[in-house]
Amino acid sequence: MDIRNLQRENIKNLSPYSTARDEFKGEASIFLDANENSFGSPLPADYNRYPDPLQLDLKDAISKIKGVPIENMFLGNGSDEAIDLLIRAFCNPGKDNIIILPPTYGMYEVSANINDIEVKKVNLLPDYQLDLGRIAESIDSNTKIIFICSPNNPTGNSLIRSDIETILANFKGLVVIDEAYINFSRQKSFIQELTEYANLVVLQTFSKAWGLAAIRLGMAFSSTPVIDILNKVKPPYNINQPTQDLALAALENIQQVNEWIRITVIERERLSNALARIEVVKKVYPSDSNFLLVEINDAQNLYYKLLEQGIVVRDRSKVTLCDNCLRITIGTTEENNELLKAISILTEQTV
Ligand SMILES: *Cc1c(COP(=O)(O)O)cnc(C)c1O
Repeated sequence: MDIRNLQRENIKNLSPYSTARDEFKGEASIFLDANENSFGSPLPADYNRYPDPLQLDLKDAISKIKGVPIENMFLGNGSDEAIDLLIRAFCNPGKDNIIILPPTYGMYEVSANINDIEVKKVNLLPDYQLDLGRIAESIDSNTKIIFICSPNNPTGNSLIRSDIETILANFKGLVVIDEAYINFSRQKSFIQELTEYANLVVLQTFSKAWGLAAIRLGMAFSSTPVIDILNKVKPPYNINQPTQDLALAALENIQQVNEWIRITVIERERLSNALARIEVVKKVYPSDSNFLLVEINDAQNLYYKLLEQGIVVRDRSKVTLCDNCLRITIGTTEENNELLKAISILTEQTV
């Protein structure tokens, strides 16, 4: 399978924008090539120069942690940018389609809609696992991408690895595995499988475990043809300099992140057990992520009551297969205690 044949014809033929930084990469002391302000920035630090379009220093540091070579790595303005670019580069508007597996992350469908790409939906099974038979039936010659979210948002569970491998081995288009929550999972990442499958794209993000949602930094790992295509289509300076600087600094503090992951997983189990003992809670779904999907007697009612107490959770009760469910992010120990206290008072129970 030559992945390059999957891309849109106009993308294959595209001459990408060539930046001043692309055209001159040598050593110099006076830079008058990019119409920047040579005096500096009206700030304590200088941001007057355009950032590295390929973020090589940052990729180097990520490569050391992930064990993935730089040429198999793309950085986006959040993983949301990678989702959009994958759809834009590989799917012909008005012709091609993608497959998504509800209930799942909302951006795949929104990005497809923005790009005028048909969305085929194959619901997860009642146990929130893949319906391989119906996925196979849904694939047609215009299906370019299947988006698989594992651990899945909003259900929280990991998808069975051998099921994902079945799709990877049999589908002739791209298989995007969104691992936004992989740090909280008992399952191992698919990034070790990049050499096995040219059609595999793994998405990860700095927005969840890394505590950097505000700097907007997402990662896509894939075979070099796919990475080259993403780099060709992306806006030239998609990762700004403050983001590159802050991410580099954060990577030095990986022990802190690992400690938070450890605590989050402990708190997840504690919160899960405590919620399960509350009468209005009908079910707490098993979670491999940093949130719990919880089925409530009257989810919407509890949602608004919690809001009145200044506690906001996510109402997922109108989502496919999530009737009467709230999605609750694992907070700090104190926040989780406040939540439990509020629910038991609102439902007049002791925890
Ligand atoms: C939060 C989340 C993301 C993160 O997107 P960013 O743009 O990197 O912040 C991606 N996928 C899923 C499933 C998520 O829940």
